[in-house]
Amino acid sequence: MTGTETIIGRARRLLQHSRRAVVFTGAGISTESGIPDFRSPGGLWSRLRPIDFQEFLASDDARRLAWQRKFELDDAVGAVQPNAGHLAVARLVAAGRVSHVITQNIDGLHQASGVPAERVIELHGNGTYAVCLTCRARYTLADIRARFDADGAAPQCHCGGWIKSGTVSFGQAMPAFAMRAAEAAALACDLCIVVGSSLQVYPAAGFPELAQRHGAGLLIVNREPTPRDGIADVVLHGEAGSLLAALTADV
Ligand code: NAD
Repeated sequence: MTGTETIIGRARRLLQHSRRAVVFTGAGISTESGIPDFRSPGGLWSRLRPIDFQEFLASDDARRLAWQRKFELDDAVGAVQPNAGHLAVARLVAAGRVSHVITQNIDGLHQASGVPAERVIELHGNGTYAVCLTCRARYTLADIRARFDADGAAPQCHCGGWIKSGTVSFGQAMPAFAMRAAEAAALACDLCIVVGSSLQVYPAAGFPELAQRHGAGLLIVNREPTPRDGIADVVLHGEAGSLLAALTADV
């Protein structure tokens, strides 16, 4: 038996002893679907200074730039599908082993992999649609793009509000309902499985800490070391897809 198999065996035992696990995901679970993460070297987004929420509200130029970047990024990434990591998480949810998936991701791939929407807690919103900041009306990206391509103006809602991608920008309030749901899930779980997160973006990264402080086990699956590795019960370093497939092989 190799060292890696021993560690996977320990991770499996942790999972087997859990009655109510929560999965916490970051950009790293989606890199194998072709979506670059934020902090890996050379990541597509790391070269672009983010447009924060106050800038978006204050300036037409910032709103136009935000939409231009959004469409360019979507084009660069292309159509995406869930990968082996998302599918393994979906199996854990379907088997009743995982109550919720708390995600920092905005790509909708957990839902696309078959996790029911009510079990996915999106802390940073969802970039697969657009929302009016005033009346909360939802728009499809195709609709917004057609308008943007036609006149190059930042789109406005019929109510007069600004339309923004459904994601939470830097400087924008965290979604209250998702934050409450994540807190409840973190407090209720007996195991938190972190997948593909640098655990550096707060307040999101506080949920695995909260779970652990209230007695839950902590399993981290990540390509690179994270600041919480030293206090985790088991750490698996490597690619999320193959590690989660191995971890859930008997589920
Ligand atoms: P991050 O970029 O800070 O960290 C990603 C982590 O995943 C890194 O530590 C990296 O080593 C690891 N990783 C990369 N590929 C991996 C793989 N195949 N297997 C295992 N680990 C892998 O991501 P974060 O912690 O989610 O924070 C970044 C913020 O940017 C998030 O809040 C998120 O909203 C946003 N974001 C979202 C997406 C998305 O929706 N897919 C993509 C990029 C950024």
